[in-house]
Amino acid sequence: MLYDSRSITANEYDKEVTVEGWAQEVRNLGGISFLILRDRYGTVQVTAPKKRTAPDVMQTIASLARESVVRVTGTVKASPQVRAGYEIVPASIQVVGPAKAPLPMGVVDKVDVEPETRFNHRYMDLRRPEVRAVFELKSLTTRLIDEYLVDNGFVEVFTPKLVASGAEGGSTLFKVDYFGRPAYLAQSPQLYKQMLMATGLDRVFEIGPAFRAEPSDTARHVSEFISFDGEMAHIDSQADVMAMVEGCTRFVIAEVRERGARELSVLGVDVSVPKAPYPVIPYERAIAMVREAGLRIELGDDLGTEGERLLGDLMLQDGHEMYWIIEYPEAAKPFYIMEKDGTPYSFSFDLDYRGQEISSGGQREHRYDRLVQRMQRLGLDPGSFEFYLNAFAYGMPAHGGWGLGVERMVQKMLGLSNVRETILFPRDRNRLVP
Ligand code: ATP
Ligand code: MG
Repeated sequence: MLYDSRSITANEYDKEVTVEGWAQEVRNLGGISFLILRDRYGTVQVTAPKKRTAPDVMQTIASLARESVVRVTGTVKASPQVRAGYEIVPASIQVVGPAKAPLPMGVVDKVDVEPETRFNHRYMDLRRPEVRAVFELKSLTTRLIDEYLVDNGFVEVFTPKLVASGAEGGSTLFKVDYFGRPAYLAQSPQLYKQMLMATGLDRVFEIGPAFRAEPSDTARHVSEFISFDGEMAHIDSQADVMAMVEGCTRFVIAEVRERGARELSVLGVDVSVPKAPYPVIPYERAIAMVREAGLRIELGDDLGTEGERLLGDLMLQDGHEMYWIIEYPEAAKPFYIMEKDGTPYSFSFDLDYRGQEISSGGQREHRYDRLVQRMQRLGLDPGSFEFYLNAFAYGMPAHGGWGLGVERMVQKMLGLSNVRETILFPRDRNRLVP
């Protein structure tokens, strides 16, 4: 059995164990050699006194290149000078995967490495515990989302990512060749999750990739991200949807605090559960607030990066990390959103987390005629959405839902400056490899 830095305890003292990991540090001091072996959970120190170590083992350590993968078998010795309280005196050592020198980037060095270098050599970057911790916490986040939604009667679905038409506007569609026909990479599961509302699968969710040809290079846009989408039928209003998203995000953060405590401490991050209920700010009020704070913005405008940030600062002054912005102008919202009759507004919401949008949603237009009218008014051809519209013509309940960017949520939760930090191999205008 292979031990790791976490599983060696006082029970193993004076016994023989085998461990495997990366040679983080090698020091040869003549009479004694030290090897710091790093694995997923930490490090173990291998100590080889020349007098008690076979010459071939000494030789292997002496010529070992940093970051090589080695397997060491040896005796665990209590050692108060070592932080872990023990060291391993090696009986044999095997180089499983030698590393070339020099390394493309340091793993333990304290020098700052450019993000581009880190992303180019992500396999090496991820050897750093604080980089890896982000992905353990992202995995925990999606697992917790799953748990919360299933507990609330949702069914997980998987909708196509190769589609014939976009749902979120033509400008960010990636076109692909589909057996000679044009097709697109899905920007969101919007049309499909709505169609499912006509089936009796009345609460669905999906955690999957979404693709957007985002032209702007920002810290929060990438061209491939993981979207957590939900849709629920038989609702009375969008408040039902908001309650679900609020419950879910609070559950996730509270549980990450508990179950992710080890990874959070590796990152040195303290996560707080947002104060509930999340304040609800009508769009008009949000615009007024950021105008008062000095931003030049007009009614009808998008809040934009700066507006979102300003609003985030204002909300944080009252201790609110998460808050809703509701009733956006209908003209600024996609065709599927329900208009608030007699006003220029819509039954829509954004959820912002410390100055950044992480989710958008709302009540959908489920009335066939109104939906067709809205499409026509927005310059869309209902004919090319027939497959979608049909689902509204034979009994469609009132419904609503949301899309939440998993990476944006993880980014804000962990206080990271760029959404790319939460993506193993980020995709943006400049980046397709690795
Ligand atoms: P933004 O205004 O910030 O560009 P959006 O309003 O266009 O976002 P939506 O269509 O509302 O985005 O998508 C739902 C959620 O998906 C967003 O709130 C965000 O969390 C996430 N998201 C959207 N586009 C991206 C992207 N390019 N990169 C990362 N996450 C994204
Ligand atoms: Mg949005």
